[in-house]
Amino acid sequence: MTGGDSDIPETVAVVGGGAVGTTAAYDLARDGADVTLFEAGDIASGSTGRASGICYDAFAEDVDAAVAQRALERFRAFDGQGDFELSPWPYVWLAREGDEKRADAIREQVPRMQKHGRNVELADLETLESEFSDLNLDDVAVAAVAHDAAHVIPPTYPPLLAEKAAEAGATVRTNTPVALSTDPTGVVVDGEDEVAEFDAVLVAAGAHSKQLLAAVDVPIAMKPYRVQALTASDELDIPICYDATGGFYLRPHPDGLLAGDGTEEVESDPDDWNRDADDWFVSDVSAGVEHRAGCSPDVERTWAGLCTATPDHDPLLGELRDGLYVATGFQGHGFMRSPALGEAIAAQIRGGEGIEPFDPTRFDGDEEFEIVEGMDVE
Ligand SMILES: Cc1cc2nc3c(=O)[nH]c(=O)nc-3n(C[C@H](O)[C@H](O)[C@H](O)COP(=O)(O)OP(=O)(O)OC[C@H]3O[C@@H](n4cnc5c(N)ncnc54)[C@H](O)[C@@H]3O)c2cc1C
Repeated sequence: MTGGDSDIPETVAVVGGGAVGTTAAYDLARDGADVTLFEAGDIASGSTGRASGICYDAFAEDVDAAVAQRALERFRAFDGQGDFELSPWPYVWLAREGDEKRADAIREQVPRMQKHGRNVELADLETLESEFSDLNLDDVAVAAVAHDAAHVIPPTYPPLLAEKAAEAGATVRTNTPVALSTDPTGVVVDGEDEVAEFDAVLVAAGAHSKQLLAAVDVPIAMKPYRVQALTASDELDIPICYDATGGFYLRPHPDGLLAGDGTEEVESDPDDWNRDADDWFVSDVSAGVEHRAGCSPDVERTWAGLCTATPDHDPLLGELRDGLYVATGFQGHGFMRSPALGEAIAAQIRGGEGIEPFDPTRFDGDEEFEIVEGMDVE
C-alpha cells in the first residue's frame, strides 16, 4: 500500500477499456485512487463496441433487479454527456403459443420482478399491437413489458467514462496490452520486462480475462462464446422485443433496425474467432423479423462478437486473491449492467463488501459446464 489507510489500495491497475473497466476506473479515480487503465486497443474495441445496446431492469432475482435499477439510474445521469445518449423505449419479451415452458416462465417472472419494484407487467396483446403498428403478435401466448428500458449505441459509453476517469486523475493507456504478475500484484506491459506494481489489479478484460488469469495460474469458471447481430435500413414501429421461442431480438436503431442473437453454444478462442456473422444467422434472424414485424429486412451490416458464460449465469465480480480482482462472465448482459457492476467492483476494491452472489471464488475455476443463451427465459 502506498500511504493512506493501509487497508485500502491506493494504486490500482484496471485491465480493459470496455464498459465495465472504464466505469470502474472512473469510480476508483473519483474515490481518490491512483488509477491506471490499460487497454490493448482503442477504448471500446472489445465486446462493448459490438454490443446491441439493449438495456432493461427486467430481472427476477433481487440482486439482479437492484443492479439493473442502479445501472439505468446512472445511464440516465450520463445521458447527453459526450456522445452518449440513452433512448428510453419499452422492452417486450414473449413466448409463442405451444411454448408452454417459456410462457410459464414469463408468467412466473413478472410478479417476482414487480415484487422488487420493477415497472413490468404482463401485456394485453391487443393493446400492445395497437401501440406498435409493425408488431405482429398473432402467434403469441404471453408477452410482458418492461417500461424502464432503453436502447443506446454502446461504443459511445466507454469513451465518456474514460474521459471522466482521466478528468478525475486516472492515467488512460490505450494500445497497451498487458500481462499479469501476481507476485507482487502488478502488470507487465507488452514488450517491457519490468513489472509495474500496484496495490490492486482489476481484470476487466472481457473475453480475454480467463486467458490473462490462467497465465498466472488463477483459473476462472468462464467461457467466451460467439453471438451475432445485424442492422437493416427498415424503419419499423416496434418496441425493443425478444422473441424467446424464436431465439432472436430486435430494436429500433439509427440505421433503421437492429436484430440479433445467433448464439453459438461452444467455447471460442478469444484470439481466433470469426468476426463476421454466419449465413444461417442472417437467414434465420431475417425470417424472424419478417415473422414478428412483417418485413423482410434490407440488411446493411452483419457482425459477430464474444460474450462470456459462467456455470450459474451470474457474473464473476470480486477478489480472486489478495489484491487481484476480476469482472467478467456477464452472459450477454454486461453492457446494460456495466454502470452498476463497475461501480460495485470499484467500491469493493476500495474496501467495500462487493456483491456476495457474484463472488468469483464460489467456483474453483475447473468446473465443467454448458454454455446457454444469455437472454433465454427458461
Ligand atoms: C453482438 C453482441 C450483442 C450484445 N448485446 C448486448 C446488449 O444488447 N446488452 C448488453 O447488456 N450486453 C450485450 N452484449 C454483451 C456486452 O457486449 C458485454 O457483456 C459487455 O460489453 C462486456 O463489457 P466488458 O467491459 O466486460 O468487456 P469488453 O468490452 O470486451 O472490454 C474488455 C477490454 O479488455 C481489453 N483487453 C483484453 N485483453 C487485454 C490485455 N491483455 N491488456 C489490456 N487490455 C485488454 C479488450 O481490448 C477490451 O477492450 C452483446 C455482445 C455482443 C457481442
